[in-house]
Amino acid sequence: MSNKTPELSFEFFPPRTEKGVENLAAAHAELAKFEPEFFSVTFGAGGSTQDGTFDAVKSMIEAGSDTAPHISCVGSSQANIRSMIEGYLEIGVKRLVVLRGDLPSGMVERGDFSYASDLVTFIRREFGSDLLIEVAAYPDFHPESRNPKQDLENFKRKVDAGANSALTQYFYNADSYFSYVDEVTRMGVDVPIVPGIMPISNFATLVRFSDACGAELPRWIRARLEQYQDDEASLKAFGLDVVTHLCFDLLDNGVPGLHFYALNKVEPTKEICQRVGFQFKQ
Ligand SMILES: Cc1cc2nc3c(=O)[nH]c(=O)nc-3n(C[C@H](O)[C@H](O)[C@H](O)COP(=O)(O)OP(=O)(O)OC[C@H]3O[C@@H](n4cnc5c(N)ncnc54)[C@H](O)[C@@H]3O)c2cc1C
Repeated sequence: MSNKTPELSFEFFPPRTEKGVENLAAAHAELAKFEPEFFSVTFGAGGSTQDGTFDAVKSMIEAGSDTAPHISCVGSSQANIRSMIEGYLEIGVKRLVVLRGDLPSGMVERGDFSYASDLVTFIRREFGSDLLIEVAAYPDFHPESRNPKQDLENFKRKVDAGANSALTQYFYNADSYFSYVDEVTRMGVDVPIVPGIMPISNFATLVRFSDACGAELPRWIRARLEQYQDDEASLKAFGLDVVTHLCFDLLDNGVPGLHFYALNKVEPTKEICQRVGFQFKQ
């Protein structure tokens, strides 16, 4: 594990309404006071469009933050991806979060790329080594993977293709992260693998996300959240404690940074970052 000061990053999704644009600008301005390494903006998830991602990334870069668009290759052609990246380079993007993405229901065309590793290879071939490339890692394993060994090998393929670092799917059991990192390190992977942190503020949303993405919600956490479903204050207090404890555990063991799924909100991300000691510059 690294001896460097751990870096922060915050992930947002592209807003779909005027009000959403305002909320995102306010959340960005507030979380920027932590002086994070970068922000990122998702693409495609929940039906969001590339235009929405582009606009959000552009406005955060104009406000002075290094901001990385997520790009996914599922259903895309090489020409599409090339022109999308050229557009991002024009507005000053220096980092990309490179993903395969999930095939929307009803869509059958896979496009020119099968896996995220193909997209990393393409970007390195077409655009050289200047862009920083983040890829996804899954400590609880990707739901489609045949077995853990193959999932780890498939992760290594993305690094071998030229990824600079990785952001993980969220998890609540630090051991799954440490075991994942140990295993890929033994396989020769030496890029930073930054834990993805999902703050807890709503039971139903968290259960839906976790079921969809294969992140394990431990039984004891699920049971407590279920118990607090109609008691928002207790649910939030419990969620804060669980996630703060997880972050302390990760930081105490030398993780390279924390990547927060901030979901376009300041809280509870800000509170957790402050509790674990990140400096907030007023
Ligand atoms: C940090 C983070 C951000 C995300 N942001 C977004 C987003 O903005 N938009 C969005 O739609 N989704 C997003 N996702 C979700 C992601 O798109 C899905 O999890 C998707 O199903 C897999 O994407 P991937 O890039 O990990 O795919 P891959 O690395 O391509 O892996 C997908 C599956 O294929 C397997 N695989 C890989 N290579 C091979 C091979 N050569 N042969 C056989 N099997 C192989 C892997 O083991 C895995 O099971 C994000 C996930 C994370 C962790």
